[in-house]
Amino acid sequence: MKQIVVHQEKCTACRECELACSFSHEGVFNPALSRIRVNDFYEEQFYLPLTCVHCADMPCGTVCPTVAIRRDPDGTVRVLEERCIGCKMCLLACPFGVMGFAPERGVAQNCDLCGGDPECVKFCVPGALEFAEVETDAKAKQKFFASVVHRALAGT
Ligand code: SF4
Ligand code: SF4
Repeated sequence: MKQIVVHQEKCTACRECELACSFSHEGVFNPALSRIRVNDFYEEQFYLPLTCVHCADMPCGTVCPTVAIRRDPDGTVRVLEERCIGCKMCLLACPFGVMGFAPERGVAQNCDLCGGDPECVKFCVPGALEFAEVETDAKAKQKFFASVVHRALAGT
């Protein structure tokens, strides 16, 4: 499945992704309404954009009392707003803290990948966001992790 891949080291916290998302979904430039959030860690001096990773076991959907969260055939985890009662159980259940809430509608909201062409990716000028096929194979993940550790130890 294609997902939004974050290259954290390239993020400058310009927040164009948040503006693109809120305008695309809500028609206004308001980072508070964005489904992708740039987390800033001032003391550690790094920024980390986070959004739904459409995880396989989908704990948000498991706890939803009204079955308002489902997986589309393409793998996207989607909130069915007409079913949502705004209890926020899914916000508590998400291990990544990325399920959001639309206060004006009183419903949960997460990244819907813009139907397969994410706006945030298009507007991320530094290239910190990429829409790419994500490896689900364990061996491939181990190889990727090993390469990250190797680069870190080599100081590159
Ligand atoms: S807030 Fe909505 S989507 Fe989330 S658990 Fe409650 S009913 Fe389900
Ligand atoms: S909102 Fe959280 S728990 Fe639900 S699919 Fe996305 S990352 Fe997983």
